[in-house]
Amino acid sequence: MEAAPLKIYFLPFLASGHIIPLVHIARLFASQGEHVTLIMTPSNAKLFTNTIEQDRVICGSIINIHTLNFPYKELGLPQGLENVSSATNNDSATKICIGAHLLQRQVEAFLTSNPPHVIVTDFMFMWSQKLATTLGIPNLVFNAISIFASCVMDSIKRNPNSLISYDDHGSFVIPDLPHPITLNVKPSPMFTKALTEGIIENEQNSDNVGILLNGFEEIEHEYAEHYEKLTGRKVWHVGPALLMLKKKTNMDKDLLGDEQQHECLNWLDKQEQKSVVYISFGSVARFSDGQLLEIASGLEASGHKFLWVVHGKDNNDNDNKTWLPLGFEARMKKEDRMMIFNGWAPQVLILNHSAIGAFFTHSGWNAISETIVAGVPMITMPGFGDQYFNEKLITQVRGFGVEVGGQVWSSSPYGDRDNLVGRERIEIAVRKLMDGGDEAVQVRKRAEELQEKAQKAVQPGKENERYTVCIALADDTCEEPKIRMNKIAVAILRLRPVPQ
Ligand code: UDP
Repeated sequence: MEAAPLKIYFLPFLASGHIIPLVHIARLFASQGEHVTLIMTPSNAKLFTNTIEQDRVICGSIINIHTLNFPYKELGLPQGLENVSSATNNDSATKICIGAHLLQRQVEAFLTSNPPHVIVTDFMFMWSQKLATTLGIPNLVFNAISIFASCVMDSIKRNPNSLISYDDHGSFVIPDLPHPITLNVKPSPMFTKALTEGIIENEQNSDNVGILLNGFEEIEHEYAEHYEKLTGRKVWHVGPALLMLKKKTNMDKDLLGDEQQHECLNWLDKQEQKSVVYISFGSVARFSDGQLLEIASGLEASGHKFLWVVHGKDNNDNDNKTWLPLGFEARMKKEDRMMIFNGWAPQVLILNHSAIGAFFTHSGWNAISETIVAGVPMITMPGFGDQYFNEKLITQVRGFGVEVGGQVWSSSPYGDRDNLVGRERIEIAVRKLMDGGDEAVQVRKRAEELQEKAQKAVQPGKENERYTVCIALADDTCEEPKIRMNKIAVAILRLRPVPQ
């Protein structure tokens, strides 16, 4: 029997790398007939108004945006600055995070006056579980990072002393994980302290029964099992959301974004197949001028073509940029070897362009998911935080990328670092993948195999397996919540494609 639609609210955290995947997941739920409301702040909401309108008109989705007020004035932030990805320094990023937490009262008022069946909240909202419990509303937590990174952090948290015995530049194995993961950059004492003292508690609340991720099981299944055993919480990989949206709504255009004629794509159209390295370090990380100079020099020395997305840098036509080697642009242009783009790039479109041969990136979880869907191998250079861990999933565990690595740990996406990653390392990594040879062939093959697995993950045939998991979860809970959990389980289940 067809279950009645669930009323589901989604509360994304205020950073593009968190908002984009959770909005996709919300749209997926809506595409399955659930009644969805996104709870967002004004400027972030604006970014998605058109997409949501399209879902309503073209797909008949019942999906709305409930807009909250953001406390710009109280925080001393300019009107409209409410996305960590638009911040340019620690101060404004911290204020935006504080602002996100100040939204609690408004969220509470909204939930009280219009209670949903379930609320899905980003793991950064550490108050959401308590609030939902108080109001008697089930809360599913959206994990915006990989479960692999969550497991590494959990291991560090449980074994803080294992890091102490290694010096800053040694490499060390993270204990008690399904694979021997070797880190060569030691997490900072501040990061380790935050983990051990539970400051980065994210989803770790006893009322929390399961977490949602925008990924697919095969990429990190050992870690999902490991996490479930450790915590007793279920892990639901409900992605790759973009790929599923494409299948469900049959909207290629939506997958590809609005900008079909973007200048980056026009340039790529003129390049040979798999000849270009795409470079972007996500929406938040900002490398210092010194580090950008090393990257530029490494790229030049590699001899390969590249499309480089640089946020927050002057890209005027002058040759005095402190972040580029002297005469760099003239030389690169003469050889038609590069395009530098300063702005928000249509990343999914770029990654799916046939000219792209590799993605040189910070290893953000969305970047990984999008790259796998495109079947492109990666070159990894973490910017901060969990990206140091994700890099190992790409290179050591699944082998679909080559590693540049980091030099020292950074918890912050901004500012100068004394220890730069040298140009030689960058050149070597780029050449390893782009020059060809046995290793490159193997890495590329593994990227293509993963792409196939991602495609299979959204094919029909997974329903029974997931249904068993969902119902088992529902059975674990007591009577009244059980009914709700069953409905939620069915809603998650419905996210899988129905057999044709
Ligand atoms: N992104 C984009 N254009 C840009 C920069 C980023 O479309 O110029 C998107 C990218 O496709 C991904 C998200 O922003 O969906 C960034 O998420 P990720 O987890 O890779 O990194 P973060 O920004 O959270 O560090």
